[in-house]
Amino acid sequence: MADIIIMGSGATEKQISTVIKKIKGLGFDINLSRGTEKTIIGIIGDTRDISDEVFKILPGVAQVISILKGYKLASREFHPQDTVIKTDALDIGGDSLTIIAGPCSVESKKQLLNTAERIRKSGARILRGGVFKPRTSPYSFSGLGLEGLQILKEVKEKTGMPVVTEVLSPEDVDRTAAIADILQIGARNMFNYRLLQRVGKSSRPVLLKRSFSATISEFLNCAEYILKEGNKNVILCERGIRSFDSDFTRNTLDLTAVAVLKKESHLPVFVDPSHGTGRRDLVTPMSKAAIAAGADGLMIEVHPKPEEALSDGFQSLTPEMFAEFMDEIKPVARVMNKKF
Ligand code: PEP
Ligand code: MN
Repeated sequence: MADIIIMGSGATEKQISTVIKKIKGLGFDINLSRGTEKTIIGIIGDTRDISDEVFKILPGVAQVISILKGYKLASREFHPQDTVIKTDALDIGGDSLTIIAGPCSVESKKQLLNTAERIRKSGARILRGGVFKPRTSPYSFSGLGLEGLQILKEVKEKTGMPVVTEVLSPEDVDRTAAIADILQIGARNMFNYRLLQRVGKSSRPVLLKRSFSATISEFLNCAEYILKEGNKNVILCERGIRSFDSDFTRNTLDLTAVAVLKKESHLPVFVDPSHGTGRRDLVTPMSKAAIAAGADGLMIEVHPKPEEALSDGFQSLTPEMFAEFMDEIKPVARVMNKKF
């Protein structure tokens, strides 16, 4: 099995192109990474039947590696450089820190527009707002659905802010992608393989939230489901996992996962401290810690009147608190050489 071809430091352009031609001739696509020392060529596809001998004998090849884990496209070995997702409005990942903010649920145009205008002034780059809401109880508010999508569209047009919203089912992907700049897969749906495959066929970037019961390897395998369908723009989002101590927090925000994911994968890693802790007073400290652990972005719930919110008011910041929050995280971003 051959997944990655590492060219020797003295390999010539001709030797590199011979290897690429060989791979393409076998019907595979490639991922090429040119470092200062070495050129690394990743083979995209099911490589189980390709013998490494085929490449070992080619001039200039230093090493042939097989990736035995289930997530090849998501792995840093396969794609050594950080993935930077380029949208019309901004770059996500690399040396930027991207702040996504907004209400848990879209409740009305007035609520969303008010929030968007105020968080934008404080420096949020992307607006969030759920319209299809997966709720723990089937009797809780489950979102405005298509009416909510229309509100997202109007507020996006009015403020110029890109928007992210969750999709719950494969049938909703196209109409949601017609409006949303980023599709969110929620924690409850991380293991919904059909949905992952469906968003993998979309041209919109996908923000994949970690299930509260997923190991890091399960999380990366789910990202792989999306990447395998051709969508290269996946953002991984840690949002807290279940642990034994729920007296003080809603979830346990696993910041180890951030450091591990940054090593193990090239994909941008975000943190959602609002769901991760379930407490507005913990949003700022955990955000600072997340940036220090290497996060490329944060997702923060903000509501103009949290006490009247139809979902997650207790963990939402007011726009005034959000402005203070942005001031407080700035020095940490600076230390980590992140622009925002
Ligand atoms: C959300 O971001 O609105 C949400 C429902 O989060 P999660 O899927 O992480 O629970
Ligand atoms: Mn929420």
